[in-house]
Amino acid sequence: MVSEIFGAKVFNLITMKQKLPKDVYKKMEKIIKEGAPFDPSIADTVANAMKTWAIELGCTHYTHLFQPMTVTLTAEKHDSFIDPELDGGMIEKFSGKELMAGEPDGSSFPTGGIRETCAARGYTAWDPTSYAYVKENSLYIPTAFFSYTGEALDRKTPLLRSQEAISKQAKRVLAHFGKTPARVLSYVGPEQEYFIVDAKEYAQRKDLRLTGRTLFGAAPSKGQELDDHYFGALKTRIADFMDDLDNELWAYGIQATTKHNEVAPSQHEVAPVFSTTVISTDTNIQTMEILKKVAKNHGLECLLHEKPFEGVNGSGKHNNWSIGTSDGENLLKPGDVANNKQFQVILAAIVKGVDEYAEVLRASAASAGNDHRLGANEAPPAIVSVFLGSQLDAVVESIVSGTPVKDFPDEYLETGVASLPSLKKDTTDRNRTSPFAFTGNRFEFRMPGSNQSIADINTAINTIVAQSFKEIADALDAGRDMDDIIREFLTDHQRVIFNGNGYSKEWPEEAAKRGLANNKTTPTALLALTTDKAKTLYAGNGVLTERELAAKYDVGLEEYSKLRNVEAQCCISMAEEEILPACLSYTKSVVDDIIAKKAIGIEAPVETAKAQKLNSLTEALMTKIDSLKETVSAAPESTVENASYFADVVLPAMDDLRTVADELEVNVAKSYWPFPTYDDLLFNV
Ligand code: ADP
Ligand code: MG
Repeated sequence: MVSEIFGAKVFNLITMKQKLPKDVYKKMEKIIKEGAPFDPSIADTVANAMKTWAIELGCTHYTHLFQPMTVTLTAEKHDSFIDPELDGGMIEKFSGKELMAGEPDGSSFPTGGIRETCAARGYTAWDPTSYAYVKENSLYIPTAFFSYTGEALDRKTPLLRSQEAISKQAKRVLAHFGKTPARVLSYVGPEQEYFIVDAKEYAQRKDLRLTGRTLFGAAPSKGQELDDHYFGALKTRIADFMDDLDNELWAYGIQATTKHNEVAPSQHEVAPVFSTTVISTDTNIQTMEILKKVAKNHGLECLLHEKPFEGVNGSGKHNNWSIGTSDGENLLKPGDVANNKQFQVILAAIVKGVDEYAEVLRASAASAGNDHRLGANEAPPAIVSVFLGSQLDAVVESIVSGTPVKDFPDEYLETGVASLPSLKKDTTDRNRTSPFAFTGNRFEFRMPGSNQSIADINTAINTIVAQSFKEIADALDAGRDMDDIIREFLTDHQRVIFNGNGYSKEWPEEAAKRGLANNKTTPTALLALTTDKAKTLYAGNGVLTERELAAKYDVGLEEYSKLRNVEAQCCISMAEEEILPACLSYTKSVVDDIIAKKAIGIEAPVETAKAQKLNSLTEALMTKIDSLKETVSAAPESTVENASYFADVVLPAMDDLRTVADELEVNVAKSYWPFPTYDDLLFNV
């Protein structure tokens, strides 16, 4: 029964209620729900309860789990509970001190120059707002990661700080409505998309194993043109996998609720019930890990890359974001919008924040993998715009033009069938093409890629909205009229609202006319982090110091270049060691046929034409391999130039090589081709 396994492996509030003395439990509850300051006097009691609980579940070790700025998203080092006794025996020990702080020597983690290798000390501090859990005989403690100088070296610390910032500023605005909640929290429900392929075929694709995406592959005979996969019936093997996945997620208290086939063949989605942004960030990373593990148990591989296959949809991570008070009020519910000033001012704050800091938001979702997705099949373009839907749009129009805001009566769907229940229409339709879409009681940020942590994007959203709230609260405190502020914000930033089709060819042109940025590659997108505007935004809200922000820029660029370099090397090696030999063997077999036929006096026109074609394509392949090698070896040294070079010069050279290789794939006999094709990968599970 689900209720028996649910949350069995997690030290959440339910477990705490059972295992902690009442007063300690109350303190933990206040920290988690209201962001109350941490009280070190409870640490020993919590540590002891955690240890006893973890040992009952078979644990021998504990680990401080942290989130360095690496592509693997987390890091861990395990210590045992064993404490030796003088008589040669041992006891199992875990103190509050050990719970609260750790000191991993993390000199190999990217720091963007914040920490030199000779000053390698790093500290982990327990984050009590996320839950500890047990996995493979270790107790996992979520932590934040700092340098010796107290600077954030991870993605979690800025997220926690952004939560503080938005709470502080939102409370100032709410005070003008006579409300005094203990805390305002941001909430997120991340929808995780992924592909599933057969493990045996995956093992034969070096590109998938090393880079997560296919660097070669001709278009399959069948793609997603029939739309027959979206919401299609689950195949047995997938259904079994999803069952196990759900059970495993539930055991960690991750409330996976929806699962379905996505648009592309072999593509699926899993979404949990939303939770605080901090918990959702941590559990989404866990979900990604569990997806991979459970897939392996089923002889499958889960691909989390944003664009594993060219020509079919990529995978995103739709980030459903809202804010609410610790008393349980969702601040993004429009209600009676014409008279709901509180909603109007919050809406104005968000529209302003997203427009003003669009490029910062775009930068937060930038990665090598995501560059292939944004602007490609079925993904929002790299232009940030906001979709509000016709009703809210009309509200904005009225406010801007100074005409009275009209109310919207409830509408019902006309089905034309009397026996069907009557369905109330939502206040907004869906706009699947908008990067930042209002969906009734939350905004869905659709730019993030499937392989990213949602820490950075939510840090950005929380901070830009906190900044708007700050400006609003300052103005209100100074006696400015609320309506005036709403009108000013919406008038100045209406350009970011776009309710049309974001996938259309016309949109980038229209967006350019509106002055909206379209930063297509990671190196260009990340530049937004180097601006004074970004520095003031992040430092001014206590989220990232200038040094920390500069480090983020460096780490982002370096990661980009390194990933692209791995891809280029992999491309060269597959072409040279696998594709070229296959082409030569196949050509030889054709030539042998020609010789054999001619020996007995038979002409071989088909074979001859084929051999000639293979020969010229193979020559072209060799030329492209050589030129890619030369291109890569000419890469400039400096971090900034290097990243742009990989985006603007190396990537096109890889594409050139791929074009020839893919042409060869459809000209070489299947039995000679050295690895599984798109047909095999996409239609074999
Ligand atoms: P879609 O129809 O957009 O694919 P899903 O049902 O797959 O939607 O996912 C919607 C996500 O939004 C879920 O994770 C859900 O819990 C989350 N969600 C719902 N309400 C809120 C809210 N107020 N704040 C944040 N997330 C929310
Ligand atoms: Mg969904």
